[in-house]
Amino acid sequence: MMSCTPSHSSRPFYFGSNFKMHKTTAEVRAFVAFLKETAAVYPGVQLFILPPFTTLGGLVDIPRPANVWIGAQDMHWADSGAYTGAISAPMLRDVGADLVMVGHAERRVLFYDTDQDLNKKILNALRHDLRVLLCVGETAEQRGYGTTEETLATQLRIDLHGFDPRALDRLMIAYEPVWAIGEGSQEATPAEIEPAVQFIRGRLVALFGEAGQTIPILYGGSVNAQNCMPYIHSTSVDGLFVGRAAWQPEGFLSVLKAALSARQTVTS
Ligand code: PEP
Repeated sequence: MMSCTPSHSSRPFYFGSNFKMHKTTAEVRAFVAFLKETAAVYPGVQLFILPPFTTLGGLVDIPRPANVWIGAQDMHWADSGAYTGAISAPMLRDVGADLVMVGHAERRVLFYDTDQDLNKKILNALRHDLRVLLCVGETAEQRGYGTTEETLATQLRIDLHGFDPRALDRLMIAYEPVWAIGEGSQEATPAEIEPAVQFIRGRLVALFGEAGQTIPILYGGSVNAQNCMPYIHSTSVDGLFVGRAAWQPEGFLSVLKAALSARQTVTS
């Protein structure tokens, strides 16, 4: 395979997948081997996957390049304690995780994670040197009432309360409109995505000053190889966060290739 780096920007392109409650350790190990090959071909791309907790310990012995991050789909805010079923930041560090996602819509809706909970998780993740992928996004109802901006503003303000600006290089945001995620959802158009992404950027600058410009904003929600090119052409996202379409190496690669070819044509 030829080496290929996106030509139009010195900022890395971010590309990752949330495996949700899918895959065995053997399957994820095979995926990591594929990711390492892919990372060598696309050195300007920061790749990451979020496999289930149970597989993370089985990945510790696989050395990986700096442009491959492996992360967890959630964590508890306490280091240890009487929290049956939960996993803490020190436990994630123990198994070599680079990153933790917080605030995925399924956590917010199905497990009742509040913004206050997410804030505690984020601050504790930072204490343990984990990178954080914070998911934000409005529901269909909130969009319908015209409260998308209020929703995003509240999520960002509370979730990032007290975030040390010196740790901003460890923060990524995924804009994931709840109505556009998962099976049976509605695909968002770039015209629906871009104002929200611009709004998020504005809030990050309001919270952190000019440093807020450097925080990567990814888009996620039913992205696939067929629909991803307009997202790159017509929005200001720094990367893509993909579920179903990237659960298999072939799918992961075909979405990545389509996104990178769109990215090259944007400024060439
Ligand atoms: C997700 O659940 O975060 C997601 C982006 O999933 P999908 O791409 O399958 O909509």
